[in-house]
Amino acid sequence: MPDLYCDICGKNQVRAQILVEGAKLLACGACMRSGKVLHRFDDDEAVAPSVPSAPATLESGEEVAEGYGKTIRNARERMGLPIAVVAERINEKEAYLHGIEAERLMPTLEVAKKLEKELSVKLVEKVQASVGQTSSGSRSFTPPTLADMLETKKKKGK
Ligand SMILES: [Zn+2]
Repeated sequence: MPDLYCDICGKNQVRAQILVEGAKLLACGACMRSGKVLHRFDDDEAVAPSVPSAPATLESGEEVAEGYGKTIRNARERMGLPIAVVAERINEKEAYLHGIEAERLMPTLEVAKKLEKELSVKLVEKVQASVGQTSSGSRSFTPPTLADMLETKKKKGK
Protein backbone atom coordinates (compact mmCIF):
# COMPACT_ATOMS: atom_id res chain seq x y z
CA MET A 1 0.00 0.00 0.00
CA PRO A 2 1.54 3.24 -1.12
CA ASP A 3 1.84 6.11 1.26
CA LEU A 4 -0.31 8.92 0.03
CA TYR A 5 -0.46 12.17 1.84
CA CYS A 6 -2.67 15.15 1.52
CA ASP A 7 -0.77 17.70 -0.52
CA ILE A 8 -2.15 20.47 1.62
CA CYS A 9 -1.88 19.38 5.23
CA GLY A 10 0.16 16.21 4.88
CA LYS A 11 -2.36 13.92 6.51
CA ASN A 12 -2.15 10.31 5.45
CA GLN A 13 -5.80 10.16 4.44
CA VAL A 14 -6.18 11.19 0.87
CA ARG A 15 -9.80 11.34 -0.14
CA ALA A 16 -9.85 13.21 -3.41
CA GLN A 17 -7.94 14.81 -6.18
CA ILE A 18 -8.72 18.48 -6.28
CA LEU A 19 -7.88 21.45 -8.44
CA VAL A 20 -6.43 24.44 -6.66
CA GLU A 21 -5.33 27.37 -8.76
CA GLY A 22 -4.67 25.16 -11.73
CA ALA A 23 -2.71 22.59 -9.78
CA LYS A 24 -3.94 19.07 -9.23
CA LEU A 25 -3.47 18.13 -5.62
CA LEU A 26 -4.31 15.18 -3.49
CA ALA A 27 -6.38 16.19 -0.54
CA CYS A 28 -7.75 14.70 2.61
CA GLY A 29 -11.41 14.94 3.60
CA ALA A 30 -10.96 18.29 5.26
CA CYS A 31 -8.76 19.90 2.64
CA MET A 32 -10.73 18.74 -0.37
CA ARG A 33 -13.15 21.55 0.30
CA SER A 34 -10.51 24.14 -0.42
CA GLY A 35 -10.51 23.40 -4.14
CA LYS A 36 -12.54 22.00 -6.96
CA VAL A 37 -12.95 18.27 -6.55
CA LEU A 38 -11.83 16.53 -9.72
CA HIS A 39 -12.24 13.01 -8.53
CA ARG A 40 -13.39 11.70 -5.27
CA PHE A 41 -12.10 8.42 -4.03
CA ASP A 42 -14.58 6.38 -2.15
CA ASP A 43 -13.50 5.32 1.25
CA ASP A 44 -11.97 1.92 0.67
CA GLU A 45 -10.24 2.33 -2.63
CA ALA A 46 -9.20 5.85 -1.76
CA VAL A 47 -6.91 4.93 1.06
CA ALA A 48 -5.75 1.60 -0.26
CA PRO A 49 -5.72 1.57 -4.02
CA SER A 50 -4.47 -1.72 -5.31
CA VAL A 51 -1.75 -0.69 -7.64
CA PRO A 52 -1.85 -2.85 -10.73
CA SER A 53 1.83 -3.42 -11.16
CA ALA A 54 1.68 -6.09 -13.80
CA PRO A 55 3.79 -5.19 -16.78
CA ALA A 56 2.11 -5.40 -20.14
CA THR A 57 4.68 -7.85 -21.37
CA LEU A 58 2.93 -10.99 -20.24
CA GLU A 59 1.09 -11.81 -23.40
CA SER A 60 1.10 -15.52 -23.67
CA GLY A 61 1.74 -16.46 -20.06
CA GLU A 62 4.89 -18.24 -21.09
CA GLU A 63 8.51 -17.35 -20.76
CA VAL A 64 11.90 -18.81 -21.43
CA ALA A 65 13.12 -20.49 -18.27
CA GLU A 66 16.23 -19.33 -16.50
CA GLY A 67 19.38 -21.21 -17.34
CA TYR A 68 18.20 -21.79 -20.89
CA GLY A 69 21.72 -21.38 -22.29
CA LYS A 70 23.07 -24.18 -20.18
CA THR A 71 20.09 -26.39 -20.91
CA ILE A 72 20.57 -25.93 -24.61
CA ARG A 73 24.31 -26.50 -24.54
CA ASN A 74 24.06 -29.59 -22.37
CA ALA A 75 21.43 -31.12 -24.61
CA ARG A 76 23.31 -30.23 -27.75
CA GLU A 77 26.56 -31.70 -26.47
CA ARG A 78 24.78 -34.78 -25.26
CA MET A 79 23.48 -35.26 -28.76
CA GLY A 80 26.88 -34.49 -30.23
CA LEU A 81 25.58 -31.75 -32.45
CA PRO A 82 27.65 -28.72 -33.40
CA ILE A 83 25.95 -25.38 -32.99
CA ALA A 84 25.98 -24.89 -36.74
CA VAL A 85 23.87 -28.01 -37.25
CA VAL A 86 21.33 -27.09 -34.65
CA ALA A 87 21.16 -23.57 -36.04
CA GLU A 88 20.51 -24.92 -39.48
CA ARG A 89 17.85 -27.31 -38.28
CA ILE A 90 15.88 -24.59 -36.55
CA ASN A 91 16.63 -22.19 -39.35
CA GLU A 92 18.40 -19.59 -37.27
CA LYS A 93 21.81 -17.92 -37.45
CA GLU A 94 24.68 -19.75 -35.81
CA ALA A 95 25.83 -16.55 -34.10
CA TYR A 96 22.38 -16.14 -32.66
CA LEU A 97 22.54 -19.61 -31.13
CA HIS A 98 25.99 -18.87 -29.74
CA GLY A 99 24.56 -15.82 -28.07
CA ILE A 100 21.67 -17.80 -26.68
CA GLU A 101 23.91 -20.50 -25.24
CA ALA A 102 26.05 -17.85 -23.62
CA GLU A 103 22.81 -16.24 -22.39
CA ARG A 104 23.86 -12.99 -23.92
CA LEU A 105 20.73 -13.21 -26.00
CA MET A 106 17.27 -14.19 -24.97
CA PRO A 107 15.62 -16.47 -27.49
CA THR A 108 12.13 -15.61 -28.55
CA LEU A 109 9.43 -18.03 -27.48
CA GLU A 110 9.25 -19.23 -31.03
CA VAL A 111 12.95 -20.03 -31.19
CA ALA A 112 12.89 -21.55 -27.72
CA LYS A 113 10.11 -23.86 -28.79
CA LYS A 114 11.96 -24.92 -31.89
CA LEU A 115 14.96 -25.69 -29.73
CA GLU A 116 12.80 -27.62 -27.29
CA LYS A 117 11.62 -29.82 -30.09
CA GLU A 118 14.98 -30.22 -31.72
CA LEU A 119 16.89 -30.99 -28.53
CA SER A 120 14.10 -32.58 -26.50
CA VAL A 121 14.50 -30.18 -23.62
CA LYS A 122 12.22 -27.97 -21.62
CA LEU A 123 12.89 -24.29 -22.16
CA VAL A 124 9.56 -22.58 -21.97
CA GLU A 125 7.66 -22.41 -18.74
CA LYS A 126 4.22 -21.16 -17.96
CA VAL A 127 4.03 -18.09 -15.82
CA GLN A 128 1.20 -16.83 -13.71
CA ALA A 129 -0.12 -13.54 -14.91
CA SER A 130 0.29 -11.70 -11.66
CA VAL A 131 -2.22 -8.90 -11.88
CA GLY A 132 -2.81 -8.66 -8.16
CA GLN A 133 -3.99 -11.39 -5.88
CA THR A 134 -7.73 -10.91 -5.84
CA SER A 135 -8.60 -9.22 -9.08
CA SER A 136 -10.40 -11.56 -11.40
CA GLY A 137 -10.86 -9.57 -14.49
CA SER A 138 -13.70 -7.07 -14.07
CA ARG A 139 -11.33 -4.16 -14.16
CA SER A 140 -13.29 -2.28 -16.78
CA PHE A 141 -16.12 -1.73 -14.32
CA THR A 142 -14.09 -0.23 -11.54
CA PRO A 143 -13.88 3.53 -11.30
CA PRO A 144 -10.44 5.06 -11.70
CA THR A 145 -8.30 4.49 -8.68
CA LEU A 146 -5.88 6.90 -7.18
CA ALA A 147 -3.12 5.06 -8.96
CA ASP A 148 -4.87 5.61 -12.25
CA MET A 149 -5.19 9.27 -11.54
CA LEU A 150 -1.51 9.56 -10.75
CA GLU A 151 -0.71 7.65 -13.91
CA THR A 152 -2.75 10.10 -15.94
CA LYS A 153 -1.07 12.96 -14.22
CA LYS A 154 2.34 11.62 -15.12
CA LYS A 155 1.52 10.98 -18.75
CA LYS A 156 0.10 14.41 -19.29
CA GLY A 157 3.27 16.11 -20.41
CA LYS A 158 3.31 15.17 -24.07
ZN1 LIG B 1 -5.44 17.80 4.31
